[in-house]
Amino acid sequence: MKFEARKIRLIMDLRKKGITSTNVLSAIEKVPREKFIPITFIDQAYENSALPIEEGQTISQPFIVAFMTQALSLERKSKVLEIGTGSGYQSAVLSYICRRVFTIERFDSLLKIAQSKFFISNIHNIVTRHGDGYLGWPEQAPFDRIIVTAASKSVPEELVKQLAEGGIMVIPLEDSQKNQKIYLIKKVGEQIFTEPLVPVRFVPLVEGKIS
Ligand code: SAH
Repeated sequence: MKFEARKIRLIMDLRKKGITSTNVLSAIEKVPREKFIPITFIDQAYENSALPIEEGQTISQPFIVAFMTQALSLERKSKVLEIGTGSGYQSAVLSYICRRVFTIERFDSLLKIAQSKFFISNIHNIVTRHGDGYLGWPEQAPFDRIIVTAASKSVPEELVKQLAEGGIMVIPLEDSQKNQKIYLIKKVGEQIFTEPLVPVRFVPLVEGKIS
């Protein structure tokens, strides 16, 4: 009950901030965010803020999760790849909108926790992989949508290759002044269109190091 009232308040706040997609709002409503965060922060489960998780990583702010998900223009049939499973919360939101979600995390410990959260939340359409997200998931490519939830200095080439024709990617990119923005990338034929969206603060996308 306590969580339900806070969740409704959060959904109203997201609407006010420009989240209009009913798919996205209803997915946020369905995912129990309190299950995806460490118990110490459980009281803040429905605050619109990022929170620390294990391995010094973070679960993103609900607004950013909703914003990036909305920017992906998902359809039920979209095959989605997420880089940076973290808590598993973003994957869970995607799993309520799309039939198939693939997610890669570089920390095996985080992946094990996330997998248990999917199980207890009765989510069975997320496939996980322990590995370096820079390399994508070639065996499963092409993907209709790719979402990167850690900040990179440039768009990883492999991910562009693994994006389907007509596909969309959202990714936080960091410039030389360490400012980050989410970018929307569209692949149309041989061409790549890039559009900056909003400023953000993500943990770094770390290349070539899995733990
Ligand atoms: N989507 C997550 C956000 C997690 S923070 C959530 O909803 O909670 C970003 C995550 O990206 C961290 O868990 C970090 O370990 C992971 N990460 C960073 N670099 C990576 C890489 N090269 N490959 C896979 N995961 C990576």
